[in-house]
Amino acid sequence: MASRMLKFTEIDRAMPEKRDAKARAGDFHEIYADYAQEVAEDQAGRCSQCGVPFCQQGCPLSNNIPDWLKLVAEDRMEEAYQVSQATNNMPEICGRICPQDRLCEGICTIEQSGHGTVTIGSVERYITDNAWEQGWVTPIKPPRERDQSAGIIGAGPGGLAAAEQLRRKGYQVTVYDRYDRGGGLLMYGIPGFKLEKDIVERRIKRLEDSGITFRFNTSIGEKLSLSDLRDKHDTVLIATGVYKARDLMVPGAGCTGVHAALDFLTTSNRKGLGDAVPTFDDGTHNAEGKRVVVIGGGDTAMDCVRTAIRQGAKSVTCLYRRDRTNMPGSQREVANAEEEGVVFEWLAAPEAILDTKAGKLKAVRAARMKLGAPDPSGRQSPEKTGETFDIKADMVIKALGFDPEELPVLFGEAALTVNRWGAIRVDFTSMETSIPGVYAAGDIVRGASLVVWAIKDGRDAAEYMHKKMKAAAREQATAAVAAE
Ligand SMILES: Cc1cc2nc3c(=O)[nH]c(=O)nc-3n(C[C@H](O)[C@H](O)[C@H](O)COP(=O)(O)OP(=O)(O)OC[C@H]3O[C@@H](n4cnc5c(N)ncnc54)[C@H](O)[C@@H]3O)c2cc1C
Ligand code: SF4
Repeated sequence: MASRMLKFTEIDRAMPEKRDAKARAGDFHEIYADYAQEVAEDQAGRCSQCGVPFCQQGCPLSNNIPDWLKLVAEDRMEEAYQVSQATNNMPEICGRICPQDRLCEGICTIEQSGHGTVTIGSVERYITDNAWEQGWVTPIKPPRERDQSAGIIGAGPGGLAAAEQLRRKGYQVTVYDRYDRGGGLLMYGIPGFKLEKDIVERRIKRLEDSGITFRFNTSIGEKLSLSDLRDKHDTVLIATGVYKARDLMVPGAGCTGVHAALDFLTTSNRKGLGDAVPTFDDGTHNAEGKRVVVIGGGDTAMDCVRTAIRQGAKSVTCLYRRDRTNMPGSQREVANAEEEGVVFEWLAAPEAILDTKAGKLKAVRAARMKLGAPDPSGRQSPEKTGETFDIKADMVIKALGFDPEELPVLFGEAALTVNRWGAIRVDFTSMETSIPGVYAAGDIVRGASLVVWAIKDGRDAAEYMHKKMKAAAREQATAAVAAE
């Protein structure tokens, strides 16, 4: 059979079809359609199967990308799924929301040779969406049950990946979360137009069907303490993410109508899930008919501007202090936002929030910036030019990033060591914290990061937790024999 690979000179790069900007701006459904099988095969067949797969090095999970691309090109879909799921607990989610241009696709060899990169993320998504449809994604059946148990704090991607890996080995796993649903930011942060919620829900359901216990509405530090969990379980993982929103430090920042990004996004996601959400219904977190200004240039800001468009905002402006090339958010998302009608004010930083005499939000005063000398990290620092301008606003959303909560205080565990930003310190060769038997993974270790890194940490932590529990079980068995 002639090779189905190396087709990049014959077949152009093609993303799955994108819905028309006007149509998609009216709802919260995902904007990309599914690949047809033939298109997925063609796109996978563009891979050059290079000897050193740089894409694999660009993927935090070291996914075996060339292998599953080849299997898709040969229409061996079930094998492709098996290879893909061996290194990633949520391939269809990463395929949707990883910033591929900065990861696997960013260093694809054929991109370097002037051809468009292989659409790695879209093929990865297709493989596992198809596997769900075919019924190949089934509950975990561990080869044997073990008595030991793990308590996991946080049902975000980090906690879920660890829970799955430990359950595969037969441990009894309980996941605690302060929210009423699993998924963490996959459920309540990231909007449906990037990741529809049934994709997350079916993952949680599969873990429940695999024997993992979820205890929702259970805030550790309030309902239960970390020490309760240490008494109850053989090992504990902290995967609580980062939720302390960075504040806007300008005059007028406390004005009514200025909101934290996550409050706005969570409200919108809850509304989409059919929950009763008073702050949406009373207009507090509803952008309909308003002139909205979003401050920030990361993924969260991009999600806010596009949510505001979908809620029917009169206008949406994004204010970012650096330029387009130096923004942290994905370029793909900026392009999508522009298509949907968002206006970007690059090189603009908030100087003050202006209100009327009656205390009603009126405008954002912005300072025009220029890029100056590079800072110690090599990034050019924004500097004021002296020019200012006002943008009329009825709603301002602060999307300036997140910091960790004060976990040693919240958990009442002074022995839990954190770094100067408040992130938990772990020994990266074991993911263990300063408290023996307590591990940590995801954003709470790295600071605000990416889903794929949280999955990687969760998998690593699970492996080390397993090693330690296995050693403890062996020791116990040896002691029992000696005592006979
Ligand atoms: C708006 C937004 C958009 C994003 N978009 C992208 C994107 O497109 N692509 C991407 O890769 N990444 C994106 N990210 C980042 C990504 O969501 C995070 O890096 C990832 O979710 C981190 O996973 P985690 O498991 O560490 O934490 P989280 O997902 O934050 O999950 C932590 C869980 O712990 C629970 N928890 C916290 N404290 C306690 C407690 N005391 N007791 C019990 N439970 C607790 C929380 O309720 C939550 O469910 C985005 C982030 C935001 C905010
Ligand atoms: S997990 Fe993310 S980085 Fe890795 S191959 Fe998939 S899309 Fe690329």
